[in-house]
Amino acid sequence: MPTCFQRLLLTIVLIFPSILTAKELLSISDKTTETIKLVPELVIANQSQNLNITEIRNSPAIKWEPFRTAQTKGIANTSYWLKFDFIQTAPQAKQLIISLTNPHIDSIVLYHFKNGQQVQRLQLGDHYPFANRPILSTNFLYSFASQQFDKHQFYLKIDSTGATNLPLNLWSSEAYYQNAEQQTALYGFQLGVLTAIGIFSLFIALTSLSFSYTYYAGYVLSITLFVASLNGLAFRFIWPEWPQVQNFALPALLSLSMMFAFLFSEKVMLFKYHNQTMLRLCRISAAASVLLLVVCLFLDYTTALRLNIYAVMLASVMLMYMSTAQAIKGYKLAKLFAIGWFCMMFGALISGALYLNIFNSDLTASTPFIIGLTTEVIFMAALLAIRYNDERIAKLKIQQDALDQAKQAREHKEKALRLEARSSEQLSQKVQERTLELEIALRELNEANQKLTEQAKVDSLTGVKNRNSFDKRILAEGRISRRQQTPLSVLMLDLDHFKTINDSYGHLAGDQALRVVADILKQNLKRPTDLVSRFGGEEFAIILPNTDQTGALQVAESIRKAINAAPISWGDQSFPLTVSIGVNSEVINSEEHTTLLLEQADQALYQAKSEGRNCSRLYRPQ
Ligand code: GH3
Ligand code: MG
Ligand code: MG
Repeated sequence: MPTCFQRLLLTIVLIFPSILTAKELLSISDKTTETIKLVPELVIANQSQNLNITEIRNSPAIKWEPFRTAQTKGIANTSYWLKFDFIQTAPQAKQLIISLTNPHIDSIVLYHFKNGQQVQRLQLGDHYPFANRPILSTNFLYSFASQQFDKHQFYLKIDSTGATNLPLNLWSSEAYYQNAEQQTALYGFQLGVLTAIGIFSLFIALTSLSFSYTYYAGYVLSITLFVASLNGLAFRFIWPEWPQVQNFALPALLSLSMMFAFLFSEKVMLFKYHNQTMLRLCRISAAASVLLLVVCLFLDYTTALRLNIYAVMLASVMLMYMSTAQAIKGYKLAKLFAIGWFCMMFGALISGALYLNIFNSDLTASTPFIIGLTTEVIFMAALLAIRYNDERIAKLKIQQDALDQAKQAREHKEKALRLEARSSEQLSQKVQERTLELEIALRELNEANQKLTEQAKVDSLTGVKNRNSFDKRILAEGRISRRQQTPLSVLMLDLDHFKTINDSYGHLAGDQALRVVADILKQNLKRPTDLVSRFGGEEFAIILPNTDQTGALQVAESIRKAINAAPISWGDQSFPLTVSIGVNSEVINSEEHTTLLLEQADQALYQAKSEGRNCSRLYRPQ
């Protein structure tokens, strides 16, 4: 670093060229191993824009003054001549490099005079295709050989719109390449980080279709391209053949970054839910950024860049204010956003100060800005990750709630189904019970019916078949006899003097006598086909199918004897009882024959009665 004293000396030397001595001249000695800043050595020619090199060198009217950085600070549209000299005192031959590390200077014409002789004229600047440069570097470089006591004089004609600061240095070639390597590594790292985050975000945006990631990816990628343009790498690698792109790349990329920054901030700080005013402000600002982008395409570079830098400053202040306000309200994401944005602003502030030479440092002017920017981008990435995670958790919760609800609904449904199943089971059980009851009732009814039918066939007093049964049976047996030509026998019985018994012992005793007789009749009939019936009053009739006269008479006699032998006991008394029996036996030959058979049996009975009672008589035709 040159001291104030040196500067003073230099000024004196420049103002009074006649007293210029070799002693004051910048000398390259053996000890000079580091870079030498040439800015303090520079002198600037006043009112010389339109002069050529011969006029500049020879015109006595030219006044050379010490170059003050203030003269070129900021963004301007400038054109001027510069000059510097030095001498090599070091004995060894050297290869030296002059570097101008502002890749945005439009045009630099360099004249190199060695020991009073012009040895080089170079046209440099970003207004010319990249391939035109003598050394292919993002910085403007001029390399030349130097020997002991070589006196070098350089004239630079600078024309520039835009950033005009002049970081002009003199290096030994070794020192330059060492430094360049570091610088390249740093640029590579910065751009690598930014590009990786940008592309990663772009992929997330494409796969998740998330607006915040889309805006963030847009922001990071446009900022990345801006940084690449700023340090000249974009010109070198992306559009080396189109120097005209350089003229609008920086302002356009700034506008684009701003637009994305506003859109992204709106999303990430959830203004839609938290603050409608800020939401509107962000959207209007984004629209204004697009407008600025369009307008800048029609403006000259200097105006466009200046406009954009003011816009960026305003945007930064706005976003800083918004994020701080939201952070104070306690929104977690806004806090991170404010910190990230603060890093970027802080970097930009230092860089700005360096560009404007508010203070001097060995730092490259853009470095703090790029460091701040990289930090900010990393913070934003973290912030998006947190937001993404928050959203994921919220989504999971909603899903869980939905699952719970579905589960509850399913449980309710299952319960309802269970109830339904149980009630239908109960119902079918009841139906079964009722059916069973009905079946039992039916069976009982059936039984009662059967009983009733049975009862209808039976005489209630004596328990033998009644007259109705007899009538049906005799008809049936008549047919069988007729078909099979078997004899059918009928016995007609009438109790003797029954009226007297009733009169003597009472009707109940008579009834008892009827019961006893019925029992005796049943006991005396052995064949299952034989039928005893109460024919009426104290008369009984017996059917003996397939029984001839002899058999029938035998049965009649055994019955008569049995009744005769069994006196009826009634209370403490007993009385005798006899029976008269008419017997008839024939093979039936017609339907009427059956009736006749009965009539004839009755006639036989009448005969028995008339012949003294207590006897059996076979019907015999007269
Ligand atoms: P007989 O036959 O020997 O000529 O004399 P009988 O006294 O039996 O005369 P009859 O056949 O005319 O009389 C029948 C009597 O039997 C009339 C009635 O008083 C009696 N009788 C008829 N049915 C019943 C009955 O169900 N119970 C009682 N206790 N008596 C009856
Ligand atoms: Mg009678
Ligand atoms: Mg009688």
